[in-house]
Amino acid sequence: MYTASQERYALSEKIFSRCGKSGVLLPKVSLGFWHNFGDDAPIERSRAITRYAFDHGITHFDFANNYGVPAGSAETNFGRLMDEDFRPYRDELFISTKAGYLMWDGPYGEWGSRKYLISSLDQSLRRMRLDYVDLFYSHRYDPNTPIEETLQALVDIVRMGKALYVGISNWPLEPLKAGAKYLKEHDVPLLIYQGRLNMLNREPIEQGILDFCAQEGIGFIAFSPLAQGLLTSRYLDGIPSDSRMAKEHFLKSDRRTPELLEYLRQLEAQAKKSNRSIAQEALSWVLDQKGVTSVLVGASSVEQLANNIQTIL
Ligand code: NDP
Repeated sequence: MYTASQERYALSEKIFSRCGKSGVLLPKVSLGFWHNFGDDAPIERSRAITRYAFDHGITHFDFANNYGVPAGSAETNFGRLMDEDFRPYRDELFISTKAGYLMWDGPYGEWGSRKYLISSLDQSLRRMRLDYVDLFYSHRYDPNTPIEETLQALVDIVRMGKALYVGISNWPLEPLKAGAKYLKEHDVPLLIYQGRLNMLNREPIEQGILDFCAQEGIGFIAFSPLAQGLLTSRYLDGIPSDSRMAKEHFLKSDRRTPELLEYLRQLEAQAKKSNRSIAQEALSWVLDQKGVTSVLVGASSVEQLANNIQTIL
């Protein structure tokens, strides 16, 4: 039986940040469930990480339909944690999910049609044992579906009470602009944009996406702020056998170049001056960019998450 820490909001002033010009406050460090929460990870470790997050004021958990191995298992396992641990705290949690990438066979299992988005969200709700999600994203832009179809599905998802807010992830700037306009005109303002932003990948800045969000009062949440672990001490001395890079799937070992190691050594020297870790240095850099609401970190241990949360305390 889990009882959340009484102290979880003791440091609210430091932890929360307003999401654009909305009424929503999000923790500056949010927890992502892409890796380490599927059937390929021990459930008790996933439970410990999730509890640690919530006990420290991390109220925002981010999913997508396809997270975990096999796809969907991160949501299914979280559904179990909802029932066993978090049900009494549902209204304190801000849970997001997404649809866009391949989830099931046939023509309705990916991209941006109304058929796919609504069916996928229904599946996510069943897996997570939830009545609604707080935030539902289009996970990628679909150039072959009329943009109005995707956007109207998002509007209707809110009208149906399946999600409270909508977000857009990985869309290029021009469709993002059109999407934000459409959603505003239909009284479902775009809450947030989710994009990859870290010291090694600055595309949302270079492409004007971060500026656009800041100007329009749309929140921005940075995924892979540690470049999947590259911007930490994880790979300084080799490739640990339990690391993401050792799996050679989403993070390939050819990313561990002499140039990267040199960059990390410099970052480490800089971090040491303020008694911080490389990860904390990297997360601070993202949080310092104008318009960033939150960094969406992954963690394979409580220690990693604790180190990451320490950045904002
Ligand atoms: P990060 O860049 O935070 O990488 C997380 C990984 O870095 C961990 O799994 C761990 O690797 C390592 N790590 C984390 N903290 C530390 C630390 N303090 N010290 C040493 N190593 C550390 O983020 P992710 O790439 O995991 O993405 C985060 C979230 O963003 C996802 O869960 C998902 O919610 C979202 N996302 C969204 C996408 C989209 O298209 N919208 C795409 C990708 C992610 P290890 O496991 O090897 O220990």
